Amino acid sequence: GANARRFFVGGNWKMNYSQAILEKVNDALGKTKDAEADIVCAPPALFIKDFVSSKPSHVQVAAQNCYHAKEGAFTGEISPEMLKEAGCTWVILGHSERRTLFNEDDEFLKKKIDYVLNKTDINVIACIGETLQERESGKTNEVVERQVKAYQEKIANNQYDRIVIAYEPVWAIGTGKVATPQQAQEVHDHLRKFIEKNTNGDIAKKVRIIYGGSVTGASCKELAQQADIDGFLVGGASLKPEFEQICKARQ
Ligand code: PGA
Repeated sequence: GANARRFFVGGNWKMNYSQAILEKVNDALGKTKDAEADIVCAPPALFIKDFVSSKPSHVQVAAQNCYHAKEGAFTGEISPEMLKEAGCTWVILGHSERRTLFNEDDEFLKKKIDYVLNKTDINVIACIGETLQERESGKTNEVVERQVKAYQEKIANNQYDRIVIAYEPVWAIGTGKVATPQQAQEVHDHLRKFIEKNTNGDIAKKVRIIYGGSVTGASCKELAQQADIDGFLVGGASLKPEFEQICKARQ
């Protein structure tokens, strides 16, 4: 949209990686130096260092998840401090796949966002979004309000510049069923007003709310023109050459 918020594009590689993918993504990213956007890619944790040492310097790195402790007896987990050391400046929290496949709920996510914001200087892509059933029963606003409120309980007013809210309707993720620009804008507008109610007008005006769910090179332009859509969180298309166009959707 035509606003002062800097455009933000995240690439969520999920559990995908190969040398060929790395080369293809770096190729696309190499052509985004002049994009007026924060570009942040999230490889699988094991390959973060490979990406850090091969990516163009204007691109930042995110983890797809983290735990809420520095170290200790937490088999299979990775701490924000470890991610920081590997080169991450962002972490994705509460992705719908974490919520649905790995039972992460609002209470658990509150602990994570609290830890990341207050014990580290890592920034957070905080994900929310309704299921198809919730949308069809008219519960979209209620669900996203509950999810945002949980995060907000742990975000101090002076920490909103370290937060990007990712609205990702579950029915649009990996389905090829992108939300219409109007559907997305409507929720983003609602979210911004909800955030204002819980904070203040200045924070609501500045906080970035990005859209995720089947964003492609073809669909990104019209979405990016919406007043309250400040960027994207991209899965499938973040591994393809069209990621360049998505990073430049505002241009
Ligand atoms: P998708 O994934 O772009 O493949 O739909 C988006 C996401 O899960 O962040």
